[in-house]
Amino acid sequence: MTRVAVIGAGLAGLVLARRLRDRADVTVVEKSRSLGGRMATRRYGRYQFDHGAQYFRARTEAFRAFVGPLIKQGVVAPWPARVVDVADGKVLGEVAEEAEAPPLVALPGMNGLGRHLAAGLRLKWQRPVARVVHNRRCWRLLDEDDAVVTEADWVVVTAPAPQAHRLLPEDFAGRGAVGAIGMSACFALMLGLRRKPLLDWQAARIRGSEIRWIAVDSSKPGRPAACSLVVHGTSDWSKAHMDEKPEQIESVMIEAASEVTGDRLGEAEICRLHRWRYARADTRTGPASFVDPDRRLAACGDWCVDGRVEAAFTSAMDLAASLEKIL
Ligand SMILES: Cc1cc2nc3c(=O)[nH]c(=O)nc-3n(C[C@H](O)[C@H](O)[C@H](O)COP(=O)(O)OP(=O)(O)OC[C@H]3O[C@@H](n4cnc5c(N)ncnc54)[C@H](O)[C@@H]3O)c2cc1C
Repeated sequence: MTRVAVIGAGLAGLVLARRLRDRADVTVVEKSRSLGGRMATRRYGRYQFDHGAQYFRARTEAFRAFVGPLIKQGVVAPWPARVVDVADGKVLGEVAEEAEAPPLVALPGMNGLGRHLAAGLRLKWQRPVARVVHNRRCWRLLDEDDAVVTEADWVVVTAPAPQAHRLLPEDFAGRGAVGAIGMSACFALMLGLRRKPLLDWQAARIRGSEIRWIAVDSSKPGRPAACSLVVHGTSDWSKAHMDEKPEQIESVMIEAASEVTGDRLGEAEICRLHRWRYARADTRTGPASFVDPDRRLAACGDWCVDGRVEAAFTSAMDLAASLEKIL
């Protein structure tokens, strides 16, 4: 069987690996200790936070067909959130819901979907790939110390575009196009509160501030009861302050979020910051995945389509359709 190494255990990598596992010998290599990539969840004591993707929608038939059984199995559930628009500290009104594609979340946290999809796959985790080199017979994935992580006939890179560009060998046919895809930054502040603020909404989209989003994460289905808020910085502000000290970032975000909630959030029991250097990609009109049959290299991920969970699925399925004709 052809050996395929998939770099990245986010949604794209896991969906692709599952699609190919009957026709190829697939190994998924992941750098971090959790699964699901930017569909990420952290637990601090009694508080739980989805600090990456907040929710997702299923707008295409293909993604709906994928999500439907997951809802039946209790891996995914709707999040009936009241979302409001806020500008200059004032609530402007409720965001109209998309009846056809309600907000969905994974259970018991966003990374629950990654964990579910990884079951039964061959996985090497906590193994960051530093380089992909060819040794005449096959590809070798090497770590920082040049130790071999795995060998394969085909390599698929599903890391965010700037990281994928660094990993893809120079002669990969789509390398130039991948290198041209930018991704925006995002600070995620996680606040665990002893007392729940009196809010008549579960999430707020914010304008005219350093922050653009607050979610009462503990209002999602299947979460622990302890009140957890997730606050996201705007992409411009996050990018401009990416390398500043956490205390400075936290105090600006806490002040901005306190103005929206009307509560003194500085008294939070838990306060943790996460820096997403590569959070979201803009909508693209190019191919939904990249494949170079001569070099036996490929790449996919949300950034091939746009910056959403559904895009990661669409890109992985597009690549799976191409590879199924070749493998
Ligand atoms: C703050 C934030 C908020 C978001 N909000 C939403 C939202 O509300 N709705 C929505 O639909 N989408 C949202 N998104 C986007 C959504 O999370 C992504 O579209 C989706 O999760 C991307 O999946 P992916 O598999 O393409 O990439 P990823 O999830 O990034 O997976 C790539 C994987 O590759 C691994 N990797 C990278 N480099 C290496 C290496 N060298 N070696 C080994 N492994 C490596 C990474 O650790 C990661 O696990 C948000 C993202 C962020 C960051």
